[in-house]
Amino acid sequence: MTGTGREPMDELHFKGVMCGACGQMFPKGQLDADDWCEACGPRMQRRMRLWRHVVAACITLPFAVWVAIWLRTSPDLGFLPAYAWGLPLVAAYYLGFRIGREVVKGYTRWRLSR
Ligand SMILES: [Zn+2]
Repeated sequence: MTGTGREPMDELHFKGVMCGACGQMFPKGQLDADDWCEACGPRMQRRMRLWRHVVAACITLPFAVWVAIWLRTSPDLGFLPAYAWGLPLVAAYYLGFRIGREVVKGYTRWRLSR
């Protein structure tokens, strides 16, 4: 997709909302919560489900490794049970999961604008 033949953005701006995946304009309210149209929605939700976990894992894994190394090099912290690190790791994963949503949406839009 080269983007040729598309009307200027500001001309269409007041007419509706642009689908974040295919770039077509739709009346307000016809897109889902992620600004995707009916045609793109299921496809994008599938893609997002996968990539959110990838982004979350990319954030959580280095953190988990860092915790593991830190625990090994700091024996004083041995009094902390291993599960005490579970919560921050879960929080990191959840954060990555939330960020992953924006990453997928941003990436799709970025691809669209090229
Ligand atoms: Zn679409």
